[in-house]
Amino acid sequence: MYNLTEKLVSLTPYDPIQGEYKIRLDANESFIETDKESLSNAVKNASLNRYPDPYAKKLIKAYGGLYEVNPDYITAGNGSDELISIITACFLRKGEKVLCLSPDFSMYAFYSSLYELDLRVLKKEADLTVNIDKVIETINTENIRAVIFSNPCNPTSLGLPKKDMIKLISSVGALVIADEAYMDFWGEENSLLKCADLYDNLIVLRTCSKALGMAGLRLGFAVSGKLITEKLRAAKSPYNVNVLTQSAAEYFISDAKEMNKRIEACKTARNELYANLFRRNYPFFETLYPSVTNFVFIRTSKAKEIYEYLLSNSIAVRYMEDYLRITAGNQEETKALITALERFP
Ligand SMILES: *Cc1c(COP(=O)(O)O)cnc(C)c1O
Repeated sequence: MYNLTEKLVSLTPYDPIQGEYKIRLDANESFIETDKESLSNAVKNASLNRYPDPYAKKLIKAYGGLYEVNPDYITAGNGSDELISIITACFLRKGEKVLCLSPDFSMYAFYSSLYELDLRVLKKEADLTVNIDKVIETINTENIRAVIFSNPCNPTSLGLPKKDMIKLISSVGALVIADEAYMDFWGEENSLLKCADLYDNLIVLRTCSKALGMAGLRLGFAVSGKLITEKLRAAKSPYNVNVLTQSAAEYFISDAKEMNKRIEACKTARNELYANLFRRNYPFFETLYPSVTNFVFIRTSKAKEIYEYLLSNSIAVRYMEDYLRITAGNQEETKALITALERFP
């Protein structure tokens, strides 16, 4: 009889919320849809009979143009998810120590276990902030080979200042992977994107899935110095970003005005959602964390009841033990959410 490896025996497929809900505020996607006419313009020159460009040269040039980063330092991935997988699989040996913070994005721990790394988890402070000196000390005393976390953080919605990031990178020999999936919502002055090439132990991850509104295209970028970029490009599968994604994303990303409009619309929606919840000060929300992302994070011992109540009103949010994470939707969606919360028993 065929024997699965132990790590596969306990593994189950990823299971996002299924079912039909009118309002989806559970996955931090953008609420801005692309109109079908510009979509067909975007892909009309794509040649499906040809393999895609393995380096996605036009695409990384457009992306570099939008963020003022040299495309020589950019690697495109099939979502930043694929890049996290490649980095954890290839930049560490089996059994080497990787540090994650908690709470944080679950995919870091997922891929670390999949590739049989020695996963160490450092709990954040009681107020969910990151104490950077503790992170540095843990890395240096426990011989950690890589540290990976999101900044701003999903799910806490908090941001770690750039000076703390620089202190971390300069104080450790470990590889630092800074996942900036939500940085668009905070501000580029807090980003490491423009200085990624100055450090030999830094990879910055960005995605088109959130602020740029292209989660369905599956596209993310790694920005790093010369050597790491060369190795990332060598380790990835050659045709990882397909022809349709390359041409559509290049088309949309080249339109800086449209991209900035999308970012601003999500920030406005976030501010409105936050202000609405703050003003109403619901007794069943114990802590409403300040947000620099496109979602709000709430501590509540009634998380499960509220989550199920909202689902029964066809509103999906993310439930995580004593917390709820709610993505900022459009005006009607926020209104429907507030109307429902007003009636929560
Ligand atoms: C949503 C998200 C991503 C994006 O992943 P893609 O594979 O690019 O869609 C990456 N990191 C974090 C922390 C996220 O929340």
